Amino acid sequence: MTTGNLADEADGLTEAEEAVLEEIEEENVKFVRLQFTDITGTVKNVSIPAGQVEKAFKEGIWFDGSSIEGFVRIQESDMRLEPDPETFAVLPWRTDDNAASARLICDVANTDGTPFEGGPRQVLKSVIERAESMGYEISIGPEPEFFLFEKDEHGKATTNPHDSGGYFDLAPKDLASDVRREIIFTLEDMGFEIEASHHEVAEGQHEINFKYDDALGTADNIATFRAVVRAVAEQHDLHATFMPKPIGEINGSGMHSHISLFDEDGNAFADDDDEFNLSELAYNFMGGVLNHAQAFTAVTNPTVNSYKRLVPGYEAPVYIAWSDVNRSALIRVPDAAGTSARFEIRSPDPSCNPYLAYAAVISAGLEGIENDADPGDPVREDIYEFDDEKREEYGIETLPPNLGAAVDALEEDEVITEALGDHVSEKFAEAKNADYADYKTHVSSWEEEKYLEKF
Ligand code: GLU
Ligand code: MG
Repeated sequence: MTTGNLADEADGLTEAEEAVLEEIEEENVKFVRLQFTDITGTVKNVSIPAGQVEKAFKEGIWFDGSSIEGFVRIQESDMRLEPDPETFAVLPWRTDDNAASARLICDVANTDGTPFEGGPRQVLKSVIERAESMGYEISIGPEPEFFLFEKDEHGKATTNPHDSGGYFDLAPKDLASDVRREIIFTLEDMGFEIEASHHEVAEGQHEINFKYDDALGTADNIATFRAVVRAVAEQHDLHATFMPKPIGEINGSGMHSHISLFDEDGNAFADDDDEFNLSELAYNFMGGVLNHAQAFTAVTNPTVNSYKRLVPGYEAPVYIAWSDVNRSALIRVPDAAGTSARFEIRSPDPSCNPYLAYAAVISAGLEGIENDADPGDPVREDIYEFDDEKREEYGIETLPPNLGAAVDALEEDEVITEALGDHVSEKFAEAKNADYADYKTHVSSWEEEKYLEKF
């Protein structure tokens, strides 16, 4: 391995890239994982020795894209990873005195160097560029929830909650607070600013909120967050899951996301003269999000299991409406003004690919701005209590009831499919339709119990 001052030797590198090489030396990093996500949001990585990082910055690293879900066909399988130096972080759970490991998040490029349109990070970048050309930067603050479960004697994950705490409970009932603390310290070591953490409503369920960032930064952070939570839980012999509804009769896990747009004058969603402190622009964006909600649900809620969370009664949204007070609506406007003016979209769940989910939601909002979409009036009553007639009277539609219906809605919506691009839209729909077809023919233990002896 090169031991000289890598940064001095480096030429043709950006300042940020040189800074990474310096940090690699200072922190005694021996291996760097080059990370990217496939269409389903699964993090993939290739590890390279630290001495190869300079080459990776200059030339990229080749890999075989045909083995990655939703990427390329066999005959055009060579692809290139281009590390983003801004994403360099030492992995705190992989450090000892002599050999630390770090990671770099990568963009994916084609053989000719052009950005690969099937790379989820690229898809989000394109949507962000569109927002920038309209004069806006998008800021997103996520609230990912997850469960900590015990493992059985063979090391397999169970659905036995790790504790019996409830909402905002404290130790000793909240046994997981030590695990949560360690997760937080690890995230802080990686540069996260943690805003709050608490025990969620369900047994074994937790939430850790980190500071908002621009859309790309937040999507990267979510990918990192999931890896950290799993790694730390593993060290405590627990299984952390972001599965949206691991247990039927209790709350599932959401990933509420707080969104606002900034322009050169500050928060473009803020208007102190408005009853809800929101600007016309915010209402238009919200209108767009409501109009395309059925279509982007396949992306924000991409598993068969996601739809078991989106049912009435568990603080998850079902109805396409907005509200300043109740949590049964898809969008909630928190009581915040000025720089903090924003709205919260409550449907996304933490099993989504955050790059694609945010690309879809943002493109819906941008279309709303372009066409002056109207979100209608807020609904202040508990919509869970409405019957069909009342919902019709209020003109409230529902989110798709299952993954199959969600993919159909996605395929019918040109705004969302165009934002995802042909490649991702097609591969995504293909993968999700296959999952749904598989699920539909599966006979569950529920059916066995209910019918086997009855008929
Ligand atoms: N766990 C609930 C969900 O599925 C949300 C609870 C909360 O309001 O934080 O979205
Ligand atoms: Mg929560």
